Amino acid sequence: MEKIIIVTGTPGVGKTVLSKILARETGSVYLNLGEHVKKNKLYSRFDLSSRSYVINERLLRKSLQEFFKAHSRMSIVVESHWLGRFMPKRPGMVAIVVRLDPVVLANRLRARNWPRRKVWENVESELIDLSLYEALKFLGAKRVYQVDATQKRPLELFQQAHELLRSGKGWNGVSPNWLERYDPIELSRKIL
Ligand code: ADP
Ligand code: MG
Repeated sequence: MEKIIIVTGTPGVGKTVLSKILARETGSVYLNLGEHVKKNKLYSRFDLSSRSYVINERLLRKSLQEFFKAHSRMSIVVESHWLGRFMPKRPGMVAIVVRLDPVVLANRLRARNWPRRKVWENVESELIDLSLYEALKFLGAKRVYQVDATQKRPLELFQQAHELLRSGKGWNGVSPNWLERYDPIELSRKIL
């Protein structure tokens, strides 16, 4: 099994549910990046317009380096909806990108009472494969895996992710192609 597994994807796709099973089944430490940032105050300010914290990338990177060092004998599952230079690269680091049908995602986010604009922003990210491309840019295709969570029970999804990781083959070059199924203009009208 790989040493550090990053579980990434648009908010609401099911990262937390999958990460926790993955950590439990592989005996890994679980780290939720958003919670880690809040708990350790690794942000510089709260942005009112986006209603979210602006992370301090330098502090976050340092804190992650310390975390990885402190757990160097263990495998780690890191859940994060975004990826970038703040993440220290390590040998054996891989990413699993969780995907979800954008309409299912929209319904989930609306059920969380999120403002329409925020729901749409995330649905749009999912439509254009943003998390996948971020992960590919960060780690390269050989270290990126993708699972479609649509209509899959958590354990089923875990088994698929586990098999993929074991195969060691990386991304197969296929994306779910949501834009073939949904017209973004029509979808945005429904959501906004
Ligand atoms: P994320 O961490 O990506 O934001 P969560 O794991 O918190 O997503 O899941 C978002 C919501 O979707 C939760 O209410 C969760 O119970 C539900 N959920 C997660 N995974 C599944 C799944 N495989 N099938 C059905 N519902 C799920
Ligand atoms: Mg989560």
